[in-house]
Amino acid sequence: MTRTRKLFAAVLLVAVVAVSGLTAAFATDITETYAYLPDHSVYFYDVAEGYAWAHREIDTLAVAGVVRGGGDHLFSPGSAITRADFIVMLDRAYGMSQALDSGAIDAQGGFVDVPGSAYYSKAVTAAKAFGVATGTDDNRFLPEEYGLPAVVGGFEAGDVLYAVWRMVCMVCDGPPALENEYVRLVTAGGNAAARAAVDRVFQPADSLWRGLGEIPDSGLVLRPAYARYDAAARYSLARGAGTEPPGCRCGQVIRGLLHPEECPLFGRLCRPEDPVGPCMVSGEGACAAAWKYRSADV
Ligand code: SF4
Repeated sequence: MTRTRKLFAAVLLVAVVAVSGLTAAFATDITETYAYLPDHSVYFYDVAEGYAWAHREIDTLAVAGVVRGGGDHLFSPGSAITRADFIVMLDRAYGMSQALDSGAIDAQGGFVDVPGSAYYSKAVTAAKAFGVATGTDDNRFLPEEYGLPAVVGGFEAGDVLYAVWRMVCMVCDGPPALENEYVRLVTAGGNAAARAAVDRVFQPADSLWRGLGEIPDSGLVLRPAYARYDAAARYSLARGAGTEPPGCRCGQVIRGLLHPEECPLFGRLCRPEDPVGPCMVSGEGACAAAWKYRSADV
C-alpha cells in the first residue's frame, strides 16, 4: 500500500483514529502549538502553493514528531510513500513499539519479507502485534519500498494486455501496489505442496544474475543432504562470472538501459539464427523479440 504525500496527512489522521482504540494507552498527545503562516508550512519549504489544504495537518504531525520530511526542510508532498514508512509514522504517533518493549503486548513474530535489520522492522512487528498490519496470508508484509506497480499476469495475450493495463492505471492514478491478476492459477500462498518440496531439497544462497550481479539469498542451492546430486560439485565446475559474450549488451537491455537495436551487434553479427548473446537465443528474449517485430508499428 502506498499513498502520495499530498494525501498522506489526511489518510494518516484517519488511520490514527481507526487504531486509537487499540493503542490509546500509548498515544502521543498531539497538539498544535504553532502559529501558521498563511497557506504555507512553517516546517517545509515545499508545502506551500497548491498544498494550502494540507499544511496545517502536516505541521501538526511535524510538531508531534510523526513526519520528519526528507531533509533540508523538504517534504516532497507530491511523492509516494511506502507501506513501511506509513507504519513507521503510525508507530511514532502511537508508540506501538514502546508497548512491545515494555511487554504490554506480545510479539506475534515478524513477516518473512521484513529483515530484522530494516529500519522499519520494529515498527512493523509492533503493528502486527496490534493487528494494525496483517500482511498477506503467506505472512508477507510487501513493503514495496520502491513504490512501483507490479502485476502478476498470465501468459496469454489477454492476460498480458490486462496486466499492462492495470500497471498503466496504477502509474496514472495510483496507488502503486502488487496485484495478482492471474488468480485462476496463482494464489498468495502459492502451491503449498510444491513449496514444501522445494524447501526440503533446496536452501537460499547468494546468486549471480545477468546484468544485476550478485544478490544475497536470491537463488537456491541443494541442501547438504542432496549434495550428491550437485553437478557443479560432482564435476568440479567453476561458478560462472556472470559476464556476457564480448560486445554483448544483454545486461543493459534486460535492465531497460538500452534498446536492443542500440547494441552494435544487433542484426549485424547477432541474429536469432546465429545469436551472440542470451537475449537473442530464445523467442521470448528481448533482442529476439525486437528483431522479430522490428518493422511492426507497435
Ligand atoms: S543484440 Fe545480441 S549481442 Fe546485442 S545485446 Fe542482444 S543478444 Fe547481446
